[in-house]
Amino acid sequence: MHKVVIIGSGCAGLTAAIYAARANLKPLVLDGFEPGGQLTLTTMVENYPGFPDGILGPELIEAMRKQSQRFGAEFRSGAVTEVVLGKRPFRITAGKESFESETVIVAAGASARMLGLESERQLIGHGVSTCATCDGYFFRDRDIAVVGGGDTAMEEANFLTRFAKKVTILHRRKDFRASKIMLDRARANEKIKFLTPVAVEEILDPQKQNVEALKLRNTETKEITTLPVAGLFIGIGHEPNTKIFHGQLDMDSNGYLITHHGSQTNVAGVFAAGDVQDHHYRQAVTAAGSGCMAAMDAEKFLEAHSH
Ligand code: NAP
Repeated sequence: MHKVVIIGSGCAGLTAAIYAARANLKPLVLDGFEPGGQLTLTTMVENYPGFPDGILGPELIEAMRKQSQRFGAEFRSGAVTEVVLGKRPFRITAGKESFESETVIVAAGASARMLGLESERQLIGHGVSTCATCDGYFFRDRDIAVVGGGDTAMEEANFLTRFAKKVTILHRRKDFRASKIMLDRARANEKIKFLTPVAVEEILDPQKQNVEALKLRNTETKEITTLPVAGLFIGIGHEPNTKIFHGQLDMDSNGYLITHHGSQTNVAGVFAAGDVQDHHYRQAVTAAGSGCMAAMDAEKFLEAHSH
């Protein structure tokens, strides 16, 4: 029987693990299918406080992991396949292993939707990014592109014009999914150009470990063109990793967990932290902060329910 099981090992889960471990709760962290979370997909992180020269995303995650282990956090690899949260102790299954716990912290994160190209996989962190706030700064005075036709794409494109010389929004249809106000704002921005209806066929050039151009296909005429850019931001949305909680934890229409009074979910003893319950800020530092909150809430819950 565990006191705290933490689902997810990104910034939120690891910070929860540090706090829970230092409170002597010996947390068990279940790594998930993307161990380390979204930070492992980035290169340099320059906005995490305390690192004046920046730190590589994977290094930051590794340091947090070690920090939690130093105080007694344990880790198991593998993704959680089933949870039973109807009564305490809660039951969490990851493949063939099952665990019982008095509290659960859900820090399963969200995954950025990707285009699914091999070149995208090879160039992520090397000119391909899923986060304008994180990586916009690296594209000062460069021409870049954002793919997507929703509010995220408009917001990212607008933000990126602070740095870039020109931002081209690429969308596969002529009609946009974005709200009118966001679309109008992007249209009014002189640095933003629109290119539709196009699909990104290939990102060049993985051989050079750098983004130099995009191969685009007009989805109506099928014509192939090349657009020279120094970076591509994928702005086609995020998916919270909440499938296994359906019917047990309250979530909004986009599948994000709903928290109240800090990190509490609708089930007493189950807490949520990080991107799994935040589609707004999505920053390493905010995820870490909410991980800390969840661990403190779990500790308080255990104290109140100990016999
Ligand atoms: P979204 O509304 O689902 O839009 C995703 C966009 O990406 C769509 O235009 C979609 O094209 C395109 N797309 C999806 N998969 C693609 C693929 N494989 N290849 C190419 N294009 C693809 O997602 P979102 O923009 O992240 O917004 C999610 C929610 O958050 C929305 O409710 C939005 O209003 C909200 N949000 C609000 C703000 C704000 O108000 N400040 C900012 C960001 C997000 P199709 O249109 O062809 O399907």
